[in-house]
Order: sequence, then C-alpha cells, then structure tokens
Amino acid sequence: MKWFDYARPYSIGEAVQLLSGAGDKARVLAGGTDLLVQLRADRKQAELVVDVKRIPEMNEIRYQPEKGLELGAAVPCYQIYRNPLLKEKYPALVDVASIIGGTQIQGRASIGGNLCNAAPSADSIPLLIALGVRCRIAGVDGEREVPVEQFCTGPGRSILKPGELLVSLQFPPPAPGKGACYIRFIPRNEMDIAVAGAGVGVELDNGLIRSARIALASVAPIPLYVPEAGAALAGSPASDDAIQRAADIAKEAAKPITDMRGTVDYRRHLCGVLVRRALHAAIRRAKETR
Ligand SMILES: Cc1cc2nc3c(=O)[nH]c(=O)nc-3n(C[C@H](O)[C@H](O)[C@H](O)COP(=O)(O)OP(=O)(O)OC[C@H]3O[C@@H](n4cnc5c(N)ncnc54)[C@H](O)[C@@H]3O)c2cc1C
Repeated sequence: MKWFDYARPYSIGEAVQLLSGAGDKARVLAGGTDLLVQLRADRKQAELVVDVKRIPEMNEIRYQPEKGLELGAAVPCYQIYRNPLLKEKYPALVDVASIIGGTQIQGRASIGGNLCNAAPSADSIPLLIALGVRCRIAGVDGEREVPVEQFCTGPGRSILKPGELLVSLQFPPPAPGKGACYIRFIPRNEMDIAVAGAGVGVELDNGLIRSARIALASVAPIPLYVPEAGAALAGSPASDDAIQRAADIAKEAAKPITDMRGTVDYRRHLCGVLVRRALHAAIRRAKETR
C-alpha cells in the first residue's frame, strides 16, 4: 500500500476544510472496509485519508417521532442492529445492517460508506431508496440535501464533489401501515456479492396500497430505482395479482450483465422473484404496524 497522510478531525467544518484543501487526492475513511481494500489493491489512490469516526454528528443515531431518524453516515452496522429503538421502528434497516459482511466487518462498516462506495451490488442502497431517504451533504460552501436515488451516478461514482462529505441519512418517520423489506440472492449465506437484490417500501391505507417504492441491486450500473413498478401498485389492493404485476415491471426494468455469478436471464428472473417476495414481506410488516 502506498503512503498517505492521515487526519482525524473532530468537526464537520474541520473535515471539509481538510478535504477541500486536498481536492480529489483526499479520501474519507469511515469503517475502511471498502477503502482500505481498494487502496491496498491500488484500485483507488489517496494522498490524504480523512478519518471521520471522531466527528460526533457522523456517529450518532438521532430519532424524533415527528422527524424520523437521522443516521450519522459513519455509524457502524453493529450499532444499528443492536439498537432496540431501531429494531422496533426501522426493522428493514436492522435486517440490512445484519447482512453486510460478517461480524468483523459489521464492527466497522457503515451504511454511509456502503452508499458512498456506490457499488451496484451494495445491499443497503435499494432499501434506502425504498424508504425514501435523503442525504445530508456538507462542503466548504455549506450543506445540501439530495434524495438517495440521485446519489449514485455510475459504478463507484456519486454526486459528491471533491471536498464534499456525506454527513447523515435522513429517514422519514415510521407510521402505521408502512412496511419495508430488502432481500438479496447470494450463492452462500455471507461474505459474497448479491447476484440480485430487491428493496421495497409500501404504505397501506384501508387494505389498499397508497404508495410503494421499489429498487434493485446488482442488475444495472447503479442501484436501480424503478418508480413505475411502485406506481403500478398505488391504489391497488395488496393482492397477489397486483404484486405480480409490479414484480414483472421491475424485472423488465433491470439491465443486468452476464458474469461469473449469473447470466442476464437468471438475474432478470431473480428480480421478479425477489421483488414479489419482498413485497409480500413488506406488506406483512405494514399490517403488523397498524
Ligand atoms: C469481507 C467483506 C464482506 C463484505 N460484505 C458486504 C456485503 O455483504 N454487502 C455489502 O453491501 N457490502 C459488503 N462489503 C463492502 C463494505 O463492507 C461495505 O460497502 C461497507 O458498508 C462500507 O462501509 P465503510 O464504513 O467501511 O466504508 P469505507 O471503506 O470507509 O468507505 C467506502 C467509500 O466511501 C467513501 N466514504 C465513506 N464514508 C464517506 C462519507 N461520509 N462521505 C464521503 N465519502 C465517504 C470512502 O472514501 C470510500 O471511497 C464487504 C466488504 C468486505 C471486505
């Protein structure tokens, strides 16, 4: 691994000054479970690594019933799945934090890092899209907020400009009738990349689906939001037919490639199956919250 300078700021202001001073030669380090692997393999380069684990705002879990959850971008997965409040209010987020890597990875890896790494296969991103999360981003000129479905722009690329940093993820408040779920298919139970994944969020109202959001992993250059699949469910009863229609739309929207993990046809088929199963599970959860 090449030498780099290391800085450990204690505030957002200090971090963005350091990052903007070094431009595209600086990298943020949260858990380092992607970054250190990539630096070691020379797949990414850095002259300055800015460790954000000591910045309080980026390492906190803040929940307010009327505002929802603000999850610091560097909060490690284990703090999410061990949090009783999150287990109750955001069970699908807890599920996803429990499947990223194994115990050692979960001790460091963050959801913010999973998003900023912008892998098409990232497990948390379809769920963040399904939950309607917004990204709080800071730079030297101030802050901006972006819907998470606009965050990734290509494999490993995002809308973050040099000098910018993801501060936190804002989750809408849970409500009666809301449910979400993420399911992935991998050849073995852990430590592998999803062949395909589906994240869904639904809101029920008197037995009808008021709204739904559906996104896919590993079947496009970016985590794929499929708004038309969610729109097809709006106003429908939560029936097998309506669910199958939405799953078929998602399946058609997928743009997979063939690689050692699966063929185009196999991945497309998986999308239909996973969306259908995730919708059934999310609807079950939504009914339980009533
Ligand atoms: C053995 C192993 C198993 C894994 N299993 C899975 C898995 O099952 N599912 C999965 O999705 N991933 C998996 N991963 C990948 C990785 O663990 C996750 O993507 C993890 O969530 C990354 O988080 P991190 O905090 O370690 O990010 P880091 O490695 O610290 O950062 C990742 C990237 O994002 C940037 N970054 C991080 N935080 C910020 C921020 N706040 N603002 C701006 N840029 C930022 C970094 O500069 C870097 O480019 C695995 C990795 C390993 C090594």
